[in-house]
Amino acid sequence: LQKEESTESKDGQGFKGHDMLAPFTAGWQTTDVHPLVIEKSEGSYVYDTNGKKYLDSLAGLWCTALGGNEPRLVNAAVAQLNSLPFYHSFWNRTTKPSLDLAKELLETFTARKMAKAFFTNSGSEANDTQVKLVWYYNNALGRPEKKKFIARAKSYHGSTLIAASLSGLPALHQKFDLPAPFVLHTDCPHYWRYHLPGETEEEFSTRLANNLENLILKEGPETIAAFIAEPVMGAGGVIPPPATYFDKVQAVVKKYDILFIADEVICAFGRLGTMYGCDKYNIKPDLVSVAKALSSAYMPIGAVMVSPEVSDVIHSQSNKLGSFSHGFTYSGHPVSCAVAIEALKIYKERNIPEQVNRIAPKFQDGLKAFSDSPIIGEIRGTGLILGTEFADNKSPNDPFPPEWGIGAYFGVQCEKRGMLVRVAGDNIMMSPPFIMTPEEIDELIRIYGEALKATE
Ligand code: PLP
Repeated sequence: LQKEESTESKDGQGFKGHDMLAPFTAGWQTTDVHPLVIEKSEGSYVYDTNGKKYLDSLAGLWCTALGGNEPRLVNAAVAQLNSLPFYHSFWNRTTKPSLDLAKELLETFTARKMAKAFFTNSGSEANDTQVKLVWYYNNALGRPEKKKFIARAKSYHGSTLIAASLSGLPALHQKFDLPAPFVLHTDCPHYWRYHLPGETEEEFSTRLANNLENLILKEGPETIAAFIAEPVMGAGGVIPPPATYFDKVQAVVKKYDILFIADEVICAFGRLGTMYGCDKYNIKPDLVSVAKALSSAYMPIGAVMVSPEVSDVIHSQSNKLGSFSHGFTYSGHPVSCAVAIEALKIYKERNIPEQVNRIAPKFQDGLKAFSDSPIIGEIRGTGLILGTEFADNKSPNDPFPPEWGIGAYFGVQCEKRGMLVRVAGDNIMMSPPFIMTPEEIDELIRIYGEALKATE
């Protein structure tokens, strides 16, 4: 049905059987069916090549935080392209935008002090960089056996070999011979799905922290280098942490001298109503990954922020170990950095976290009001991020048969009515741009409601 409706709705775009091997796209979508071809964006909306308008409830891929046509970002890019379109940052040569951005970015992070920023082109590269930094750090400290990483089931950290290994989604591992052997996965902190009968959120968090500690003890704490977590899990289905989870998990990793990496690629810059997810959940990480909203996605850029303790070790030992021989041609690309500097300026001037807090209740309450639908298992979220999981009998143990394609059908119903959502099986995800107006939130809720009725 999805296939037929998609074909029908996009007929005339002329890209059927196109030449692109598309990311995260099933074979039939690239061969039999017209892809949805987007060619213009404006505020919270995008337009396809037929001129059809869609409310972009996922902000591209959780990233166009300032919407589709912020002139200040465009002007920042053009000005930089006119003065210096490219120079690299290798071997003690660099550019002013990359130095300025490092300073500005570090100042935005206040959950604890961060000392250095390393630039990448994406969130995946940021997380790959984290692994190499942590290995280099432990080699510098003379403990080469402390190299394993613990991530969580259902996490998403990207799709390069290491980032996909860290991720806890089976589709990223199967057929790719992953995860790499140095990556271990611990529990997904999804209370609704995994709590035991009668277990409170706090008790659930205690049990998960105990499981984490048992895993560390089983493997040997001297072999575990770092733990990585998204403050709110995104692509795994939008899963906010249960009460006390991060307090308990942080206590465990600290006890065994294991570094905490906060993957803020989705959560950073206001999405949760705080500048960072770490602010919301009182996380004091050693390392932080950001990307996406760093430039509001107008140019590709990601970054790793490094604590003074970790960076001191790396600096003090680099004479012995040699330089930190890692980086990308486009690390600190001046155009990306210029755009990111402007994005950070806008977040500050407009007090974006507060703006998100003003509209988030309308978004959250308006959608959670559909929780009684007989086909919805759970609606969950915080700030401007929300997930819907379809299930029978309100129970995580009663999923609908996958061949019914409930999630895909709902996605098509939204698309027909002019809204794009992210569908993953029977999970629907939304993370609207920070600039969404109350009227646009009303529209989003209306389309969601109509699509739900059509799906019921
Ligand atoms: N980390 C998280 C939490 C993400 O959500 C994503 C992408 O969605 C990534 C990392 C990977 O980022 P990228 O797609 O820019 O490589």
